[in-house]
Amino acid sequence: MDYNATAPIRESVIETVAATMHDVGNPSSVHEAGRKARRVVEEARSKIAALVGSRVRDVTFCSGGTEANNAVIRGAGAASVIISAVEHDCGLAAAELSGLPVYTLPVDGTGVVDLAALKSLLEEAPEPALVSVMLANNETGVVQPLAQVSSVAKEFGALVHTDAVQAAGKLPIDFVSLGVDYMTLSSHKIGGPQGVGAIVTGPTSPLKPLVAGGGQELGRRSGTENVAGIAGFGVAALEALEDLVGADRLAGMRDRFEDAVKQSSNDAVIISADAQRTANTSCVAMPGVKGETQVMHFDLNGICVSSGSACSSGKVKVSHVLSAMGYPADVADASIRVSLGRLTTDADVEKLIAAWRSLYERTAKR
Ligand code: PLP
Repeated sequence: MDYNATAPIRESVIETVAATMHDVGNPSSVHEAGRKARRVVEEARSKIAALVGSRVRDVTFCSGGTEANNAVIRGAGAASVIISAVEHDCGLAAAELSGLPVYTLPVDGTGVVDLAALKSLLEEAPEPALVSVMLANNETGVVQPLAQVSSVAKEFGALVHTDAVQAAGKLPIDFVSLGVDYMTLSSHKIGGPQGVGAIVTGPTSPLKPLVAGGGQELGRRSGTENVAGIAGFGVAALEALEDLVGADRLAGMRDRFEDAVKQSSNDAVIISADAQRTANTSCVAMPGVKGETQVMHFDLNGICVSSGSACSSGKVKVSHVLSAMGYPADVADASIRVSLGRLTTDADVEKLIAAWRSLYERTAKR
C-alpha cells in the first residue's frame, strides 16, 4: 500500500525489458542493430505521448522524475521561479540550485494552490517566470487546478511546468488542455522500471540541456538511451491508460478505509478529505502516535505504508506539505500515507483497517 513510493512492476514490463536486453544495439548507430534499438525507443515515445496527449517528438527520455524536474526548473531559461510550497523535494531543491530568485506559492488548508497569491507573485517576480505546480501531490493526492494556474501565468507571459509523476495513470492527462509548457513523468510510479522518466515539452518551449554531450534526444538530453528501460516505460504507459477505468474501485477502497478510521476514532484527521484527490491516496493522522511508529506497526503486520515525515540523512523532518497546509507539527508528525494500486484487494484494505484499529486502541490512553 505504498504505490506512491513505487508501484509493483507489471509482468508485461518485465517480459519486455528482458526481451529487449537480449538485443544488442545503440539507438544512435546506423546499422541494422542500431536501427532496431531506435525503433524500440520511438515506439515507446509514441506510447508516452499517448498517455499525456502530447506530440511524440516533444517527449524526451531521461533518468526519472528527479532529473526531469531539475532539467526543466534549471533549464527553462526563466528569470525567476514561482514554485508551490507542496512540491516534491526534488522540485524545491532544483529551484534553490537554479540560482534564480525563488518565490513560494502558498496553498490553502486543503492543499490547493492559492490563485490570488499566484497573481501577486507574478506581478512581483522578474519576467519571464517559470511557474511550477504539481498535478497531483505525492503525500495527500490533492489535484491542483492546473488549467487555471496556466491561464493566470499566461497573462504574465510566464512558463508553466507541472510535475505529473503522481497523476499519470491515476487521472486522464491532456498536455494541451492543461496549457503547460513542461511536464515531468516517471516510469516506476506507473508500474514501469525504476530509473526512467520523461520531460514533455511544448512545441516551442525553451530547454537548455541539463546533461550535454552526444546530442541524443534532439540535444535535449545527451547520453545513450536506456533502451530496455524505455521499452518497459512504454508498455507501462500503455497499460496505465487502461488503469484509469479502475479509479472507482480504488476510490471505493480508499473511502472504506477512511470511513473505518472515522468510525473508530474522534481525533483522527483525514488530510484533504474535502479536496479533489487522486483515487488511490489517503493521508491520515493518528494524533499522539508518531508516523514512524505507525509505519513500523504496519510493517510488522505485513503492510507497507509511508509516514508523512521524510527521513533524510538520518534526521526525520516534519512533512513540508502538511506544514504548508497549516497543520501543527504534532498532526503532521503523526500522519501516514496509504497509497493503493492495481493489485490492492478488498482483503488488503480490511487487513489495513484491523491493523489501524489495533494500534489506535492500544495507544488510546495516550
Ligand atoms: N515528483 C513526485 C511528485 C514524486 O512523487 C517523485 C517520487 O517520489 C518524484 C518526483 C521523483 O521521481 P523519481 O523517483 O523518478 O526520481
